[in-house]
Amino acid sequence: MTPEEVIKFAKENGVKMVDVKFTDLPGSWQHFSIPAHELSEDIFVEGLPFDGSSIRGFQAINESDMLVIPDASTAILDPFTAVPTLSLVCSIAHPRSKEPYSRDPRYIAQKAESYLRSSGIADTAFFGPEAEFYIFDQVRYASTDNKQYAEVDSEEAHWNSGNATYHNGSRSLGHLMNVKGGYFPVAPNDTYQDLRTEMVLKMEELGIQVETQHHEVGAPGQAEIDIRFNTLLKTADAIQLYKYIVKNTARKYGKSVTFMPKPIFGDNGSGMHTHQSLWKDEKPLFFDADGYAGLSQTARYYVGGILTHAPALLAIAAPSTNSYKRLVPGFEAPVNLVFSQGNRSAAVRIPISDNPKAKRIEFRPPDPTANPYLLFSALLMAGLDGIRREIDPGDYGFGPVDRDLYSMTPEELSEISSVPGSLDESLKALENDHAFLLEGGVFTSDLLEKYIEFKREQSDVVRLRPVPIEFSLYYDA
Ligand code: GLU
Ligand code: MG
Ligand code: MG
Repeated sequence: MTPEEVIKFAKENGVKMVDVKFTDLPGSWQHFSIPAHELSEDIFVEGLPFDGSSIRGFQAINESDMLVIPDASTAILDPFTAVPTLSLVCSIAHPRSKEPYSRDPRYIAQKAESYLRSSGIADTAFFGPEAEFYIFDQVRYASTDNKQYAEVDSEEAHWNSGNATYHNGSRSLGHLMNVKGGYFPVAPNDTYQDLRTEMVLKMEELGIQVETQHHEVGAPGQAEIDIRFNTLLKTADAIQLYKYIVKNTARKYGKSVTFMPKPIFGDNGSGMHTHQSLWKDEKPLFFDADGYAGLSQTARYYVGGILTHAPALLAIAAPSTNSYKRLVPGFEAPVNLVFSQGNRSAAVRIPISDNPKAKRIEFRPPDPTANPYLLFSALLMAGLDGIRREIDPGDYGFGPVDRDLYSMTPEELSEISSVPGSLDESLKALENDHAFLLEGGVFTSDLLEKYIEFKREQSDVVRLRPVPIEFSLYYDA
């Protein structure tokens, strides 16, 4: 839609409010609204003012006036408001110059796409993220520090106890789904079919094409909805809307969704594997029938770039302290910095396909706490660096490895590098290795420094607090 069409669309749909949404540095949507009479073609050029000082990762208080510039092509009707509300995704700009704001994640994605076109290597990069999440019952209670938490339903908790049946006052319950029993028997084991379907239909209504939805391995309630690949900025925008739909649809039914990577100890975590491919003049660049797993040399170099920069990339791809509780052996999460056809513990998996157009690589470490704009941009920059420097992963000990990596002996595994063990390690790696992100001015030092500072603060929040398990380890010591 053009600005003119948006205004027409708003009138036709009886829009009463216009909600403008943008993404902060860690990757969450923020918003404010204006009444419909304030909507004009002007706001798509002049923008709307807001105070950027309270937004995570944005401006200091002494330079807080900022603008949001709505992107007309993102216009939808917000499906979760009581009155007809137009929703617009925005970029951020400085109030006087109207220059794009350097810490706007959307701007990074725009720069990454134009950098790709100017590279001459390819003109289009496709991204296909597979976000996983857990659906819990929304039981809320205040903890000692007054934070609210969603709690696993007590019926669900009983599978942890190992009991065949469970008695709770007047109720006695039969045996429920086992841990990892979710993948994927039909109803009544799967109780979330209708909820996932409602999420999918809402996505499709709002322009996100969905390929599949299913219960994931984590039981009960882990889910996955996969959207069709698209270009970088569009896919990142889609992930923001995706999360909004998933969370708000769940909420309608008194459910709560979490995208945190490892909500339950001992069960599978939630990833956001990211499929990628490069194209030039509408021709795919990643396929070669004679290459290992059907990969072209260009694709191998791309993989080489991703794997060499992986420790630094993980500061953006697996950006929470909780991310590293997912990246452990035994739960289909990647641990090893190798590429492989089919192996789910490899950081890069090459899905089997003889179709040149479908040939792609899957980077598995990302999880849905990543800011999608920064994530896809950083992956692209790493891949392009690999192509430019002709980094063949085979020359750097990155495989291919086709054996089950989980069953290797410690000696065998010591030959293979693994993902960083903590957010602090990844942040250090990013500090030491980020020149590839600064190429062409796509990322800036200012943004990366602010990002690292913000993530370190979060890491300290966790590091400085006694956690429950420490009591069982040390209370009686
Ligand atoms: N949940 C797994 C992860 O943490 C992935 C399962 C799958 O291969 O889809 O990445
Ligand atoms: Mg999955
Ligand atoms: Mg996958």
